[in-house]
Amino acid sequence: MVTPKVIKQAAKLINNAKRVLFLTSAGMSADSNIPTFRDKDGYWKNFPPFKKKNLQAQDLASPWAFRNELAHAWAFYEWRRQNASKNTPHAGYKIIDKWMKNHFEDAFIHTTNTDGYHLRSKCPANQIIEVHGSMWRLQCLEICSHDFWDEETVPLCKLDQENMRASNYPSCPQCHATARPHILMFGDMDYVGHPEQEKNFERFVREEVDLAILVGSSGAVPTNDYLALELKNRGTKLININPDQSANNIAQAEIFISLKSRDAFSQLDELIP
Ligand SMILES: [Zn+2]
Repeated sequence: MVTPKVIKQAAKLINNAKRVLFLTSAGMSADSNIPTFRDKDGYWKNFPPFKKKNLQAQDLASPWAFRNELAHAWAFYEWRRQNASKNTPHAGYKIIDKWMKNHFEDAFIHTTNTDGYHLRSKCPANQIIEVHGSMWRLQCLEICSHDFWDEETVPLCKLDQENMRASNYPSCPQCHATARPHILMFGDMDYVGHPEQEKNFERFVREEVDLAILVGSSGAVPTNDYLALELKNRGTKLININPDQSANNIAQAEIFISLKSRDAFSQLDELIP
């Protein structure tokens, strides 16, 4: 149960903070109907052709799949692009954006999500690192260079939903090889990264961070939990927002809000002038 007292305590921290880091993960997106693929049954239900071949999400989201099962690999990302395009960022994104612009002296988003929803909610482009990349950018599958580029066309590939096979793949403008998402996939040594976002993030965390807000992290991908823990050990205050109690095992935030991200931000925003 989330008591009004916890919300009040969190709002007080937010009100007093000057430099704030948002650490957003799958649970943030899930409230906008972006599937997390953690629940195997839900995943299989969406993709029966993959079930037949026993291709799991982490198999398809890999350079291996782009080299060996290209039609399926692109189909998986095409489906995700179409789904992200159909849905919209929930109110929590707008609230983060508003606080960043009006409330804090300085703030930054470190997200493991690849749906681009923070940027779609107009968060400043120099105040975010999409640490696992973005489905709205592409890079060369053959890495002929370290370039990446924006590609927001929907649909991008031709998608045969029944067989979950794509065709008409995008290609690299330089060498004309097939292009792939600019996303850090599983077992991925080919992801070219985003040096500008990386530099901006390093610059932000070099100075003291008053408060970190960890949102919707999962034990499956604990990148943000460990970053939160590291900051906490440096003296940063920590708020953790997650409906799942066990999501506080790593970071052990003093203020744990057991709510969905959308609801937590809406309740907190009522207390932020
Ligand atoms: Zn190329």
